[in-house]
Amino acid sequence: MSAHNGSSNGKVAPDAFPPPVDSQKEFIKRGLDDEDELIEVGVAIVGGGTAGLACANRLLALLGDDPETMERLGEVPVAVVEKAKTCGGHNLSGAVMRPGPLQELFGDLTREQWREEGFAFGEVTKEAVYLTPTSKLSVRIPTPPPFKNHGNEVVSVSALARYQQRRAEEAGAYILTETSATQLVVEDGRVVGVRSGDKGRGKDGEPLGNFEPGTDIKARATVLAEGCWGHLTGAAIREFDLAKDREPQVWELGVKEVWKVPQPLDRLIHTMGPWPLKISSKYGQIGGTWIYPMTNASGEHLISIGFVVELEYADATTSAHDLLQTFKTHPLVRKILQGGERIAWGAKALPGGGYWSMPKLSMPGALLVGDSGGMVDTMALKGVHHCIKSGMIAAETIYAALRHGSSDLSDYEQAIDDSSVGRELWEVRNARQPLQKGLLIGGALSGLQQISKGKLPGRADWHRNDAKPMFIGNTKDAYVKPDGKYTFDKLSSVFITGNATRDDAPNHIRVQKHVPREIAETWRWMCPAGVYEIPEDAPEHGDVDVIVNYTNCVQCGAITAKGGRLTTPEGGDGPLYQIL
Ligand SMILES: Cc1cc2nc3c(=O)[nH]c(=O)nc-3n(C[C@H](O)[C@H](O)[C@H](O)COP(=O)(O)OP(=O)(O)OC[C@H]3O[C@@H](n4cnc5c(N)ncnc54)[C@H](O)[C@@H]3O)c2cc1C
Ligand code: SF4
Repeated sequence: MSAHNGSSNGKVAPDAFPPPVDSQKEFIKRGLDDEDELIEVGVAIVGGGTAGLACANRLLALLGDDPETMERLGEVPVAVVEKAKTCGGHNLSGAVMRPGPLQELFGDLTREQWREEGFAFGEVTKEAVYLTPTSKLSVRIPTPPPFKNHGNEVVSVSALARYQQRRAEEAGAYILTETSATQLVVEDGRVVGVRSGDKGRGKDGEPLGNFEPGTDIKARATVLAEGCWGHLTGAAIREFDLAKDREPQVWELGVKEVWKVPQPLDRLIHTMGPWPLKISSKYGQIGGTWIYPMTNASGEHLISIGFVVELEYADATTSAHDLLQTFKTHPLVRKILQGGERIAWGAKALPGGGYWSMPKLSMPGALLVGDSGGMVDTMALKGVHHCIKSGMIAAETIYAALRHGSSDLSDYEQAIDDSSVGRELWEVRNARQPLQKGLLIGGALSGLQQISKGKLPGRADWHRNDAKPMFIGNTKDAYVKPDGKYTFDKLSSVFITGNATRDDAPNHIRVQKHVPREIAETWRWMCPAGVYEIPEDAPEHGDVDVIVNYTNCVQCGAITAKGGRLTTPEGGDGPLYQIL
């Protein structure tokens, strides 16, 4: 379909312009290379984020007590493949964490020691939730159940991943950073490992002077811990039909900043809008914000502030980055940031479908953990503790199989269902969907679901974000102009992420490059890193060319929800988050 056969403002859905990708053909490798050309490991974990590293640490703890099984796994019992420069480099969260699973994983550490290690910033003791009817007004409301955070801990997942990496290495993990896993290797209907990506290719894929080909990594079990919309996870879902009878996954996009501020904030704050979003259901905008206090080990006062928007919206000019900049000008926020300095920025998508959208979590030879398995409660904006718990349960499932000489990992799905992950996600399984009817009607229905703690029967459905017809609306008219002190443009924001993608790297973003303006505008506004451009002389209506400045990409993954596809870039490319 194209503008030439009927596109007009408000009638074009991104799924009519699918990305040029055949994930099963391109991202599934049929069979391993010869034995002398591959690396053999015991368990391969793809993704050194919270979930993958929890799995590595739990597995090594179990193997540490069982030298016989450890021995059978060979020289490299556990390998973690991470595309960022270091673990943590690509991880971002709000991040207020329910502490239980981390306490269980590292039982030797107190919460005071978490803070000394530099990944935790204090226990939540006070909180407040506001409605923001206008750009000037805020109204405090009683804290709705999902926003109750007493006793939780403010952390940084990028710093936590660095700590988990150190612990895993001390326990014997082999961590391959700057390495993308680009293909899932399948032999006789079973996952037998992954292939790492080539390095040193030029713009058109040609090998450069420093070219290094990728390698097959053979494993007895593979864990996909790739986070939101995983590259291999997507291919595995198709290959093994893991989404059969589930609701489609839907996505949200969050943009976050960390500020150093002169005055400590004494409470955790959430706002539920509607400003700066539009309340009319025509715009399909649902979102909210957080402001979390953080005090670091040196006693400095920091703030985590962010804006999350569901990617179900219909106004192409919706931009999470600009919404956050605009939100910072509200008096409620401005007084908190007054005299402060922005020290970090980042963006990331998260899976929002919850329980019904979780794919089947096991396939022959492999498991899905954390965001790869969709384990986020977006009512409460909580995924970190589920990532840790699911990583631990995956480790326990794999260990039990290895110990008994079995290759059957199918118990994992039930173990997740029976755990705190399954129980908590079940309780809110129908709570988020009503909000798509708009804040007023949807809010009441959602409230009923929450009060019932999941006891009301039924299965609320989701529909795909890329099936939503887009129109070019006026959300953009309210965005503030960056002042370089409190509000910033996209490019200066990307700059402070330490993004290090080579200018001559191959393009890892797959989108159609000649699309109706509604689609091009959707990508242009949505992308927090300013990757998509529309030439100035492009026609106002009809099809336009899209320029893709892919070296700016911070790998947030949002494009995959709205008609494109983020594939794995060369290992080491992308941002280097420190405290997000
Ligand atoms: C804006 C935002 C706010 C949030 N706020 C909160 C909050 O306040 N509290 C809370 O509990 N949860 C929150 N969440 C959810 C929570 O952050 C996530 O559930 C959690 O961090 C996901 O962890 P993960 O390990 O599954 O994935 P990730 O942290 O995404 O880690 C995946 C890792 O895999 C690597 N990787 C991916 N593919 C490959 C590949 N093919 N090859 C090599 N490496 C690969 C990535 O580089 C990354 O390091 C928030 C999420 C977002 C986006
Ligand atoms: S191009 Fe990169 S940063 Fe921009 S939306 Fe896509 S994945 Fe996110």
